[in-house]
Amino acid sequence: MALKVVKFGGTSLADAEQFKRVADIIKSDPSRRYVVASAPGKRFKDDIKVTDLLYQCYRMIKNRENIDEIYAVIKDRYNGIIKDLGINFDISGELEYIKNAMLSHSGRDFAASRGEYINSIILAKYLGFDFIDAENVIFFKENGTFDEEYTNSMLAEELKLHEHAVIPGFYGSMPNGTIKTFSRGGSDVTGALVARAANADIYENWTDVSGMKMADPRIVNDPDTIETVTYRELRELSYMGASVLHEDAVFPVQKAGIPINIRNTNCPDEKGTMIVASTDNYDSKHVITGIAGKKGFTSITIEADNMNSTLGFGRRTLEILEENEVSFEHLPSGIDTMSIVLNTEHFEPHRDKVLTTIARKMQPTCLSVEDNLSLIAVVGRGMVKVKGTAAKIFDAISEADINIRMIDQGSSEINIIIAVEEHDFEAAVKAIYNKFAIK
Ligand code: ASP
Repeated sequence: MALKVVKFGGTSLADAEQFKRVADIIKSDPSRRYVVASAPGKRFKDDIKVTDLLYQCYRMIKNRENIDEIYAVIKDRYNGIIKDLGINFDISGELEYIKNAMLSHSGRDFAASRGEYINSIILAKYLGFDFIDAENVIFFKENGTFDEEYTNSMLAEELKLHEHAVIPGFYGSMPNGTIKTFSRGGSDVTGALVARAANADIYENWTDVSGMKMADPRIVNDPDTIETVTYRELRELSYMGASVLHEDAVFPVQKAGIPINIRNTNCPDEKGTMIVASTDNYDSKHVITGIAGKKGFTSITIEADNMNSTLGFGRRTLEILEENEVSFEHLPSGIDTMSIVLNTEHFEPHRDKVLTTIARKMQPTCLSVEDNLSLIAVVGRGMVKVKGTAAKIFDAISEADINIRMIDQGSSEINIIIAVEEHDFEAAVKAIYNKFAIK
């Protein structure tokens, strides 16, 4: 029988109603054997995530403030879930122990991790599954980096002992036994690790959206959902700002060739988005897979006579950036010109030194800098095969009366990147989306 690892995010486990939906989803498919749980998230717009309440407790203890009131809010959330689920379970001993441990300065990561710990104990009880504490199966090294191979073997051993289990997301332990968390949203990573260790056929990541959208819904009204995206496309889109999964959640499953399916707990019948290692197929209706972009870029343009035939011009210019610890994003060049596109925030502290050094060492005939640029990536594995995709993108932009400041087609041919001024960003994304949208 197929084996599925399912991870449920904070909004999917925010209250008893959501717990019930989650249980229905799990129980409807016997292959959903291993469950990774987040801490209770927001129930409504201005609600506070339990993880944030726990961070708040930690800060208050550090400032020697009293946490009784805020801790009572955390207790109420868990007790409310237990009561509304109608299970006979007393969590007060655990909650008291955690409060005392926090008061005895057990650390920031310990505090933050207790949200998933308690939620997973409750979920395991409700489902009748075993509970596996992440501190015994997810390991970090002395230097704080994640110990992937040790974790994989220990986790695989432990999972073999359980037919069904709930594992809290987000944290593991250091060699000295103290708790350490991944960065925020890290339950996605735990889910991926469990999927790899269990050798799962699929990693289902259940959240509150029906998959990944072709464009940012804050810019484009009701964009289509991406049905299938490859890991490479996902990386290009995520790098340019599309957020769907924790960045580190991709590598463990990618390595093992396990597909990820992003699903919506509130609309379980929808197929969501499949993230796969590779596929030659693409949806011929959607030649492009997605559009993502970011603001906050600067371009340095250098002109020099005979740049093209001057040996080492490019290398020496880039060396100046390297010496100043500035990395570049893109490097479009012409015969006697080269432009370097940089992240403005990273460039800012080194701006003067980099520019004066380029002026002195490279002796350009012209050196200009342009700020307030945005980059838009149009990503799609179908682009390699379908003629006219670039033409369509440029048509869309020119019809919207927007000036393109730079064009860069990645050598992988799965993306075309254009730069436009920041004030044109939203209009450009909309124009491109509408050009490719199925009417
Ligand atoms: N609860 C943690 C957070 O809010 C981890 C997670 O939900 O993935 O970041």
